[in-house]
Amino acid sequence: MASNFEVIAGDPTSHLIVHVPHSARYLPEEVRREILLDDSDLEAELNEMTDSLTAEMVLHATANLAKPPTLFINKFSRLVIDPERFPDEREIMNQVGMGAVYLKSSTGAQLRDPKFDGAGLISQYFNPYAKALTDLVDAKLQECGKALIIDFHSYRNQQHPNAVNHGQARPPVCIGTDSFHTPASLVELAQSQFARFGESVLNQPYAGTYVPLDFYQLDARVYSIMLENRADLLVDQDLNPGPMFDSYSKALAEFITLAANY
Ligand SMILES: [Zn+2]
Repeated sequence: MASNFEVIAGDPTSHLIVHVPHSARYLPEEVRREILLDDSDLEAELNEMTDSLTAEMVLHATANLAKPPTLFINKFSRLVIDPERFPDEREIMNQVGMGAVYLKSSTGAQLRDPKFDGAGLISQYFNPYAKALTDLVDAKLQECGKALIIDFHSYRNQQHPNAVNHGQARPPVCIGTDSFHTPASLVELAQSQFARFGESVLNQPYAGTYVPLDFYQLDARVYSIMLENRADLLVDQDLNPGPMFDSYSKALAEFITLAANY
């Protein structure tokens, strides 16, 4: 069976990991069958929910770096499992039916049967994904003595109707931080590096950053920062590369190079 994620090894001396969890649109046949939307509604939902071209952006930005980071890319849609959500009652998005296995869509429509049991998807896709990323961080700690995760996302210009973050800012750049894992100077570096695209706001409309739970608030050698980008920095209205794709790619390449100092 095909793996739902891909690890592209970088320079062995680089402790950087760029994580791209939401770029893909692929749903295995048997997962598609359990989704209640018809093909055109599913297409619209994927347009809204996919962080379109974020993997392409990261591949583009890192293609010519002297010391490329390791890339960890989700090859399947977040409608299969969302690797960034807690798979249990800790997850705040459970309130709107969008925990690790979504039951509702971004519009609030029923995505899966209300009684759907996500345990199979968790064991088949979520757990192996989380373990592989944990193992990768562990390997970097052993090889380099530290690890830095850059968690890379985009979000749509308009807030989804079914959400918990209504009324928050939707700036061009949102930087997600964690008080334990994100050094203040790394935040400043990100803010200055992406200032050319306009305002950056911390933790709005999306807060926090990804750290595998084995290390979360336990291991200070694991650094992490989330880069959330309003989608118009990356794509045009048809989700093709937008007018700022190249300049954003250049800024991201520079950020990754400078972040290697953390
Ligand atoms: Zn995302």
